[in-house]
Amino acid sequence: MEINLPKDEEKILKFWKENKIFEKSLEKTKNGPRFVFYEGPPYANGLPGIHHLLSRALKDVILRYKTMQGFFVERKAGWDTHGLPTEVEAEKKLNIRSKRDIKKIGIEKFIEECRNSVFTYKKEWEEFTERIGFWLDLEKAYITCSNDYIESLWWILKQIWEKGLLYQDYKVVPYCPRCGTSLSSHEVAQGYETIKEPATYIKFKIKDAPNTYLLVWTTTSWTLPGNAAIAVNPEFSYVKVKVGQDYLILAKERLSALKKEYKVVKEFKGKELLGLEYEPLFDFIKPNKRASFLIKGEFVSIEEGTGLVHIAPAFGEEDMEVGKQNDLPVLMTVDEEGKFKPEVEPWAGMFVKEADPLIIEDLKKRNLLFKEEMYEHEYPFCWRCDSPLLYYAKTSWFIKMTVIKEDLIKNNEKINWVPGYLKEGRFGEWLKEVKDWNLSRERYWGTPLPIWHCQIGKNHLIAKQLPTVHTQQGAKRLVPKSKIKNQKDCHNIKVIGSIEELEKLSSKKIKDLHRPFIDEITFRCEICGGQMKRVPEVIDCWFDSGSMPFAQWHYPFENQEKIDKNEFFPADFISEGIDQTRGWFYTLLAVSTLLGFGEPYKNVISHGLVLDTKGKKMSKSKGNVVWPKEVVDKYGADVARFYFYTINQVDDPKRFDFKDVQTLYQRFFDTLHNTQIFFTTYVGEEFQPKKDFKSDNLLDRWIISRLQNLNSRAIEKLDNYDIVGAARLFEDFVDDLSNWYIRRSRRRSQKPRTKEEKTEASQTLYHLLLELAKLLAPFCPFISEKIYQGLSTKEAESVHLTDYPKPNNELIDQKLEEQMKRVREIVTLALAERVKVGIKVRQPLQKLEIKEEKLDKESIDLIKEEINVKEVILNKKLGTEIKFETKITLQLKEEGMVREVIRYLQDMRKKIGLKPKDKILIQYFGSAVLNRVLAENRDFVLKETKAEDFKLKEKLKKVFDIEKEVGVNQEKLWIAIKRT
Ligand SMILES: [Zn+2]
Ligand SMILES: [Zn+2]
Repeated sequence: MEINLPKDEEKILKFWKENKIFEKSLEKTKNGPRFVFYEGPPYANGLPGIHHLLSRALKDVILRYKTMQGFFVERKAGWDTHGLPTEVEAEKKLNIRSKRDIKKIGIEKFIEECRNSVFTYKKEWEEFTERIGFWLDLEKAYITCSNDYIESLWWILKQIWEKGLLYQDYKVVPYCPRCGTSLSSHEVAQGYETIKEPATYIKFKIKDAPNTYLLVWTTTSWTLPGNAAIAVNPEFSYVKVKVGQDYLILAKERLSALKKEYKVVKEFKGKELLGLEYEPLFDFIKPNKRASFLIKGEFVSIEEGTGLVHIAPAFGEEDMEVGKQNDLPVLMTVDEEGKFKPEVEPWAGMFVKEADPLIIEDLKKRNLLFKEEMYEHEYPFCWRCDSPLLYYAKTSWFIKMTVIKEDLIKNNEKINWVPGYLKEGRFGEWLKEVKDWNLSRERYWGTPLPIWHCQIGKNHLIAKQLPTVHTQQGAKRLVPKSKIKNQKDCHNIKVIGSIEELEKLSSKKIKDLHRPFIDEITFRCEICGGQMKRVPEVIDCWFDSGSMPFAQWHYPFENQEKIDKNEFFPADFISEGIDQTRGWFYTLLAVSTLLGFGEPYKNVISHGLVLDTKGKKMSKSKGNVVWPKEVVDKYGADVARFYFYTINQVDDPKRFDFKDVQTLYQRFFDTLHNTQIFFTTYVGEEFQPKKDFKSDNLLDRWIISRLQNLNSRAIEKLDNYDIVGAARLFEDFVDDLSNWYIRRSRRRSQKPRTKEEKTEASQTLYHLLLELAKLLAPFCPFISEKIYQGLSTKEAESVHLTDYPKPNNELIDQKLEEQMKRVREIVTLALAERVKVGIKVRQPLQKLEIKEEKLDKESIDLIKEEINVKEVILNKKLGTEIKFETKITLQLKEEGMVREVIRYLQDMRKKIGLKPKDKILIQYFGSAVLNRVLAENRDFVLKETKAEDFKLKEKLKKVFDIEKEVGVNQEKLWIAIKRT
C-alpha cells in the first residue's frame, strides 16, 4: 500500500483526457457568469522553469475554485514571441554576436531563425502545463507574432498617435550596447544589480588662475571626454581651500570628502561661480557652441560628491535637460556599440567601461586626479543579455505616459493587490515616477512600428533635435510649419491602423507584417506625391504583452462588442511573479489606460521568486537550477503545488529545498493517503452512504464542525485571493482528521461495540472524505480526484465536475472545538509525562488526575483510551495540570503483558498481508509466568486478534505462516500464526 503519487497522477491525467473532464467543466458552466482570466504569455524558446510551476499553480487554484462555484472561466493560453528574448537566443544559435553580424547574413535569414526558434520548446511547455494539472486552453492560444495580433497592436498605436501621445525625440535613454538598442524604463527595472566601481575626484583647471581647480566627483569616468559644463548650486556656500600646492573649490558642506589637511582661503555663494570658465580635460571633439563654463543647477545636492557636477549632455537625462536650457553642445564621443569613436584617439574602438581605468590613469599622469575610491551602488544591466547599460542620447519614439499619470494612478486605485502593500508601494511609487515609454527598438524581430513618413524632407524626422509634441494637432506634423526652412519639404507622417488600410494605400496584398517584407511596402504621399516609407524601428515587446486584453481577441476587427460591453474585459484575476510588478502588470495598465478603458484587471497576485536553498538566483551557469520535472517525477505535481501554497507567504522568496518537499510529502500527503486506506480497509466495499446522516457521537460532531469551519474559512480566504491562508487550513484539518479523529475512531471501526457505533463512524468518515476531496480539489487536483474516485457512490464523473461545497454554519460548534482542543492538550501533557517516568503507553495505569472542573463523559472516555488509564479524576485543586498514579499492581502488569503480546500478533498479521476479516490460529510458548498469564486471558487475545484458536506449542509439523521470538517484560516468548 506504498503511496506512489507520480504514478497515480499519470493514471488520473489519462482519465481526465479520455473523459474530457476539462471540456466538460467548461460545458457545465458555459451559461454561468463569466470569470475573466488573463494568461501572461511566456516565451517558448526556453524550457519551463520551477518558477513557472509556482505561477501556474497559483493561477490554477483560483480558476478551478471559480469553476466549481459555477463561473464560466475561459482560459486562453498565450505565447510571447517577439523582441530581445527571441533575438538573443537566435543570435546564439546562429553564432553571431552583434548587429553588424546580422546585417552581414541579412535580416531575412535572421528573422527566419527567430521565427523558427519561437516554438522550440512548445511541446515541452504543453506537456508541462498538462502534467502539473494546470487546465489551460492551449489550442486557442494567442500568439503575439501572428498577423491578427500585430494588426490589433497597430490599431492601438494609431489610437495613441491620434491622441497626440506618440512622438519622436532625441533624448538620453538607457541603451544596451550589445543589443544595439535603447530600452524602456520598465525593462531597465528588471535588471538592477549592486556593483562596486571606482569613483574619482577630478580637478578641472580654472582659466587664468594658477594652480586653482574645481573639484568634481564622478562614477563614470568614460563620460568625461563628453563634458560640456559644470553645474553649481547658486544658493550653497562654496569654499576655496589650499591643499598642498593646489587651490581647490568645492561646497563647504562637502569639505569632509577631502580627507586631507586643508586651509580655507575664501568662502562665497555658488552664484559667484556662474559663467566662470575652465580648461576642458580633453579636446577630442571640438564643441560647436560655447562650452566649459559653470552653469546653474538647482538639482546639485550636497548628499555626495563635491557640490560641483560634471555635465555631459550626451550621457545623462538630466544633463541633456540642462544642456538644452543652457544651449550646450552634445559631445557624442561613443558609437552605437558602446565603443569610443575614432576621434577619441587613445581609446578608439574600446568599450567605454573598459576604458575607465585608462582614462583615470591618463588624468593621474597629468596631475588632474585628486583621488580615487571604490563606490558601491545599484547599476542597471540588460534584462536579456546582462551587459551593463549605458545612458546616452538617441533618437527614439516615445509614448507620453507622463501626460496620463493621473489616470494611471486613478485606475490603480480600483485594483486589489495581493499582497496589498504593493498597490501604494512598489507599484504606486513606480506610477508616481512614471516616465515616457521608450517604445522603439532598433532591432529586427518585433512588431514593426506602423509609421510611414514622406521621403521628401525626411531628414527632419531623424534630425538631432525635434520639438516635443504634446497636442493632437502637433502630433500630425512633427515639425511645425514655421520651422520648415525649405518649403519643398513635406514631413508627412502616416500611422497605419489596419492591414486593409495599408493594402489600399499600397495596392499590394500583404502576407507578412514583419521585417524585412514590411519595409518594402511604400505608397504615394497624399500631400506632395513623394514616396512614403516605413521608419526602421520595431516596438518594445512589452507593448505586445501589455496589449493582450485586446490583441488576443483581434480587437476591434473581431469581438468588439465582447470587449466594449465588458464581457471579455477587464480580467477578474491575473497572477505572475513580483518581477512583473514593473513589467507586465505595468504595461497592461499602461495600454488599457492609454485607450481609455480603465483598469485592466481587478485582482492581481504578485508572488515571490524561486531561489536555490541558499537564497541565490537559479541559473544554468551556476548549476543550481531545479527543473520542475525532477520535482514532479519524484513527488508528484500535487506535492509541488501544495509546497508553494504553504511554504511561506505568497510574496516571500521561496528557497526551494527538496527536504521541505519531502517533509510535506510525509506530513500531508502520506497522512491523507493513509486516511483513505483506513476507509477502504475498515469501511469497505459493501458500504452504502446514507443521505443527510447525522451522528450524535462526540468525535463525529467535532470533526463535522471542523469540516464546516474549514469550508467556511477556505471560501472566505479564496474570495480574498489569500491562497496561502486557505491552503494552510487544510494542513491543520488533515492533522486533526488523521491524528485525532481517525486515531480515536479506530476502535469504533475495527471492534465496534454496537452496530450503530460502526455505522456512525463509517458514515461520518465517508462524508468527510467526500467533502474534503471537493474542498481540496482546486489545490491538489490529483489526490482529491483519487480520493473521490475511491468512494463508492458519486454524484459526478469527476470531483472537478462537482460544486464547491457551501458551508452549513449550523453544524459549527465552536464550544465543542475548544473543548476538544483542551482534551488534546491534556493528552499531550499526559503522554509527555509517561515518557518522563519511563512507562510505555501499552502498560495500563490505574489513575490520572486532571486539574479541571468539568468534562463530559465522552471526553473523559477519549482521554482514558488514548493514554490507557483505568480512571480519570477531575480535581480543580490539583497543584499541576495532571498527575498520574504510577504504581503498577500485579494485575496492571499482567494486563500490560497481554497487550504487548497482542501488539506483536497484530504486527505479524500485517506482515503477511492479512485483511481485518481474515482469521488465524495462534501457537505460543514462553516462560512459565507468560504461559500462565496468556492462558488466563485466552478469550481476550482471541477476540483482539481475530483468532480461532490459541494454544501452547505442540510437537506439530511446520504449520504456521510466520513465527517470532519476542521479549515481553524481560520474559521470552515464541509465537507463530497461521491463516485459516
Ligand atoms: Zn542587451
Ligand atoms: Zn510628402
